[in-house]
Amino acid sequence: MTGSLAEGLVCIDCGAAHPLAYRLECERCHGLLELRYDLARLATAGPAAFAGTGLWRYAPVLPIADPAHRVTLGEGGTPLLDCPRLARALGVRRLLLKYDGPNPTGTVKDRSSTTAIAAALQFGYRVTSVVSSGNAGSSIAAYSARAGLRALIFAYERASAPKLLHMAATTPDLVIYQGVYDDLIVHWDRLVEEKLFFDCGASRNAYKHEGKKTLAYEIAEQTGWVPPDVVVAPVAVGETFIATARGFGELTRAGLIPRAPLMVAAQATRANAVVRAFRDGTAIAPLKIGYTVAEGLAAGNPGRKGEWVLRLLREGQGLAGDAEDEEILEAQRRLARTEGVWAGPTGVATLAVLTKLLAGKRLDPAQTICTIISETGLKTEAELPSRAGTAFDYESLRRLVTERLGA
Ligand SMILES: *Cc1c(COP(=O)(O)O)cnc(C)c1O
Ligand SMILES: [Zn+2]
Repeated sequence: MTGSLAEGLVCIDCGAAHPLAYRLECERCHGLLELRYDLARLATAGPAAFAGTGLWRYAPVLPIADPAHRVTLGEGGTPLLDCPRLARALGVRRLLLKYDGPNPTGTVKDRSSTTAIAAALQFGYRVTSVVSSGNAGSSIAAYSARAGLRALIFAYERASAPKLLHMAATTPDLVIYQGVYDDLIVHWDRLVEEKLFFDCGASRNAYKHEGKKTLAYEIAEQTGWVPPDVVVAPVAVGETFIATARGFGELTRAGLIPRAPLMVAAQATRANAVVRAFRDGTAIAPLKIGYTVAEGLAAGNPGRKGEWVLRLLREGQGLAGDAEDEEILEAQRRLARTEGVWAGPTGVATLAVLTKLLAGKRLDPAQTICTIISETGLKTEAELPSRAGTAFDYESLRRLVTERLGA
């Protein structure tokens, strides 16, 4: 199957149906929109509906009709790593890591950038824009360049050096903003209304959001269509969490998997608006936040998508947890040393949260648990090990090696 099974947009609040156009909100109630597909046809076709490699293997359940619009840099198809050593350390029967670091710009953002830029082409836009702490900016800039579109990237002043270098390399229109994401996004979202550029932000665009759904399709296919019991997903604004949950929902309704996993939402304690609301049984109260090492999770006001995450957690009896910066950095070191996966702090917040939930006996350790590790460590800035070197001759070299090995 090479076409798209997308049928239309549906309001998540009032259920009103809308045609497949570039529309960000419900006409009737201003609610957020989600895409609907012909899942009966997916059920009939089964896994044979999917062909080819990488993210666009799942084109039938993505909203881009014309294959010529499917801009690619080779995203998706990332590994699902069985981690017995780390599982033993955490005391869980089976631990799987969905490691998204191998994506073209090193993060999960490439999944939504490829569908965002494809949608920009589909709807005839020539300019894209995003407000970013670094990862979305470098991803949207790269995919815009690949599509021949102009990208206006607004980047956080404290973005890491590798992220800034990446953005500056891929777009001439890089603008640094002062303050945090939450402050600028309010104004930027208003410019979206004026249609000055295509919305590549995380607040509303259902077409962009949709690409991250492929995490669920890949995890399902990589486990032989019997997904793990639990999936831990990061939450900044909530796109990754919502999209993954939606993907498992579609797969269940189409009969491709027996049941959807329990979803766990993971946040940094310094930006934990969703976790607090879930724990306290309240609506989301936006937080004034400062810096967290999990730069990509630094959203104090997750807005309406945050409410959507809460709804999914409450309906699906999911769990939510947060981790302090120190705990995140500890999870980062542990993952690198025990499994050789060098991920950035944003990417391992899920693992830090999982560690705490297991230690607190909030999850059943007899289950199979999958954690999404959403970025590489190669775009992070951190303190370097000492560069003070030693000049060796044969004797001193041999002495060092035998000492290190205790031989
Ligand atoms: C943006 C980002 C996330 C999560 O953001 P959502 O808006 O909640 O989808 C997670 N990990 C990384 C590495 C990111 O860049
Ligand atoms: Zn509505």
